[in-house]
Amino acid sequence: MASPIDSKETPAKPSNFLRQVIVRDLEEGTYAQRHWGGTPGDAAHQHAGPLDPAKIRTRFPPEPNGYLHVGHAKSICLNFGLARDYEGVCHMRFDDTNPEKEEQEYVDGILDAVHWLGYGWDANGTSHLYHASGYFDFMYRAAEYLIEAGHAYVDEQTPEAMRANRGDFSKPGVDSPHRSRSIDENLQRFRDMRDGKLADGSAVLRAKIDMASPNINMRDPTIYRIKHAEHHATGDKWCIYPMYTYAHPIEDALENITHSLCTLEFEDQRPFYDWLLDRLAEGGLVNTPHPRQYEFARLNLTYVITSKRKLKQLVDQGHVSGWDDPRMPTIVGLRRRGFTPEAIQLFADRIGVSKADSWIDYSTLEIALRDDLDPKAARAMAVLDPVKLVITNWGEAMGGDDFLDPCSAPVHPHAPERGKREFMCGRELWIERSDYEETPPKGFFRLFPGNKVRLKYGHVIECTGSTQDASGRITEVLAKLVPDTKSGTPGADAIKVKGNISWVGVADGVKAEVRLYDRLFSVPQPDTSEKDYLEELNPHSLKVVTAYVEPSLGKALGDEKFQFERHGYFVADRKDHTPGQGKPVFNRVTGLKDTYGK
Ligand code: ATP
Ligand code: MG
Repeated sequence: MASPIDSKETPAKPSNFLRQVIVRDLEEGTYAQRHWGGTPGDAAHQHAGPLDPAKIRTRFPPEPNGYLHVGHAKSICLNFGLARDYEGVCHMRFDDTNPEKEEQEYVDGILDAVHWLGYGWDANGTSHLYHASGYFDFMYRAAEYLIEAGHAYVDEQTPEAMRANRGDFSKPGVDSPHRSRSIDENLQRFRDMRDGKLADGSAVLRAKIDMASPNINMRDPTIYRIKHAEHHATGDKWCIYPMYTYAHPIEDALENITHSLCTLEFEDQRPFYDWLLDRLAEGGLVNTPHPRQYEFARLNLTYVITSKRKLKQLVDQGHVSGWDDPRMPTIVGLRRRGFTPEAIQLFADRIGVSKADSWIDYSTLEIALRDDLDPKAARAMAVLDPVKLVITNWGEAMGGDDFLDPCSAPVHPHAPERGKREFMCGRELWIERSDYEETPPKGFFRLFPGNKVRLKYGHVIECTGSTQDASGRITEVLAKLVPDTKSGTPGADAIKVKGNISWVGVADGVKAEVRLYDRLFSVPQPDTSEKDYLEELNPHSLKVVTAYVEPSLGKALGDEKFQFERHGYFVADRKDHTPGQGKPVFNRVTGLKDTYGK
C-alpha cells in the first residue's frame, strides 16, 4: 500500500517497518496537536509554544566516549534520513549523563562525522544540538514527583541483597524491606542522597512497579544512584546521577521526540520507558502524547568489530595507527580509506532496517562504494610492483632513443567532457612484474618471449626476452616496437593482440607510496568465539609498496579518488599525501571486484 505521504516524500526508498509506523502516525495525526516551546522543556514550557513545526522528531544520542563507527553511521542515516524524508527534525544529542570525563576530541569528532555524512541539526531557525546533562534538574524534580506519587522509594539494601531479591526468570523477586517506607521518609532519604550524606553504593532510588513482573526490568528498576564524581558540565553540583533507563525516556520527552529508535537489546526496556513517561504525563510533567520507542537490529558487519571500547583498545595498544587508521571501521577511518558519504548512505539504504539480528557481508559496503566511485573517479595508470620494460628498437623505430611519444587517455571513459590525461611513452617503461612470464602458463596472454601485446593507449610490442640478475630475478623485460600500430591511428588494428598492458613511463612517471589495505580481522565474525579478538587480527592487513604512477597523479589533491586501471580504487591519503612536494601517498580503497571471502 503506497500511502500519499510515503510516495510523495520517498519515491526511491523501499519501505520498512519504521517508515510504516511514521506514515501511520502522520495519517492518524498522532502528534499533530503537540506544541513546541522552541527548546527542550517540560509540559508547561512546550504548551506555551505554537504547534510543533516538525512533523516528526528523531534523535541521534551518542555517548561522547569514542569515535563513531559504521554501526553509528547506520543509526545516523536512519534517524537523520527519516527526519529529512518526513518533514521532521533530527536532534543531535550527547548522552552525557555519566559523570565521566568528556573528551572534547570525541565531541568534535562526533559532530564532524555527522556533518561529513551529510546531515545537520539546524532546522526552523534553531540548532537542535543538546546535552542530556542539561536535563539533570528536571530529572531530579521528576524523581521527587515519583516519590510523592508513591511510585519510587529509596532502597538501602546491599547491592548483593538487591541482586538476590530481584529473582530471575523462573523466580519472582522479593520485596525490599524499604519498599513500604512512607513518602516523607523516602523524600528525606532521597534528599540525603542528593546532599551527599550517603556513601556511594549505600542507597539507590528505585521505581516502585512490580517485583513479580515476568519482565525483570520491571522489578523496581534503579533510577538514581550515588556517585561522588565531578561531571564535565555540572561540576560537583550533583553526587547522584540518573540511570540510563530513567534518563533516556526523559531526554526524549523533553525534546518532543516522536519516534525514539534504538537497537534490539533495549526491547525489554520499552515497558519501563512507557511506564515512566505515563507516570510523568499523569503528573503533568511531560508533554503528550509522549515519544514511543522502536527497536531495530544493530549492524553487524563481517570482518569488523563495532564496539567503541574495543576499537579504543586497538588504538591504545598500537594495533592500528589511530582512530583514523584506514583499516578502522570508524567514520574517520572509512573516510581516510576513501569512502564517500554517498557510498555510506547508499549502503545504509540498501541494508535497510529489520527486527532480526544478522550479519551483513562486508562486500555489501564495498559494492556500494564501487557503485558510487565508478562514475566519479578519474582513471589513471599505476604500476604497483614495477619492473622495467626496455623497447630495444625504440630509437630506430621512433627516431631517437630519447624521443618521447605523447599519449593520451580519457579521464573517464563514459564522460568525454572531462577531457584527457596526457603522458609520455618512451624507450623505458615501468610495467607490473606479474605481466611477464619467462614460460607462460596456459591462458596467459601478456608478455612472454615471442608474444605481442598492446601497451594501453600506445603501440603494439613484441616481447623478445628478459635480463636477470645472479639470483635469477628478472631485472628487465625486453621487447620490440611494432611500427604503425599506435592506438587511435589508422591501421592500428591491423595486428590483433589478446593482451593489453598498463604502464608508466620511466621519463615522466611519479614515484609514490601505495598502501595496500586488507581486512583488519581474518575471521568473518570476529569477537564471537572464545578466542581473544586480538588474536583474530589479520597480520597482513597492510602492505606498503613503492609504485610508479602516471604524471596526472602527481597533482592529485588529498582525498581525491581514482580508479587505477586494472587495480581498483585508490585515494590520495588525507594526512600524508603532499601534492606537488614529491611524496604522493595513495591508499587502496577497494579492488575492482569483490574478492572478500573468495
Ligand atoms: P558502543 O558499544 O560501540 O559504545 P553504543 O551503542 O554504546 O556503542 P552510543 O554512543 O550509545 O554507542 O550509540 C549512539 C547510537 O548509535 C545509539 O542510538 C545506538 O543505538 C546506535 N548504534 C550504536 N552501535 C550501533 C550498531 N552497531 N548498529 C546500529 N546502531 C548502532
Ligand atoms: Mg554506549
